Amino acid sequence: METAEIIKRDELICQMRERGFPISLISQRLRISKERARQILKKNLRSTSHGLLTTKQLSEVCGITMNRLRTLIKVGIIKPVFTWNVGSRRYSVWDPIAKEEISKFNGTHYICRTCHRPLPKNRQWYCSEACRLQRWQFRNRTLEEKQKVLTSVKRYREKKRLKDLHKN
Ligand SMILES: [Zn+2]
Repeated sequence: METAEIIKRDELICQMRERGFPISLISQRLRISKERARQILKKNLRSTSHGLLTTKQLSEVCGITMNRLRTLIKVGIIKPVFTWNVGSRRYSVWDPIAKEEISKFNGTHYICRTCHRPLPKNRQWYCSEACRLQRWQFRNRTLEEKQKVLTSVKRYREKKRLKDLHKN
């Protein structure tokens, strides 16, 4: 089979699947094994089980960017039904319930700066006192913030030294 033919066939398989054809029927019509049909759907990032969505489809359905979706995944707001790896890339499929989880989460606009969980209504930057304290511990500060603190300490010491000099 030529490359163009393969692409055409793969596209046909994906379209049939999207219209709700069972994999058994697709494989029969195109004279390929069920496993092969499944592989082709996976390769083309289409869902192989009914009702499940690919990550791209989920982002389109929810109207959010892939980056935002990746954050939600990282933070643990949504979990895929299953994932598989092709080379270094990782693919996931999603239950449509993930859609509801996302819309619920998007109702809360802000996430905690320390633990990245959604903020309760009465809090602005951190979900709890513990998270706020953790963020402001010296070792958790950014290099720039650390530098600021060190500079002000230095200034304070210098002032104090001059004061003491005057006293004597
Ligand atoms: Zn927190």
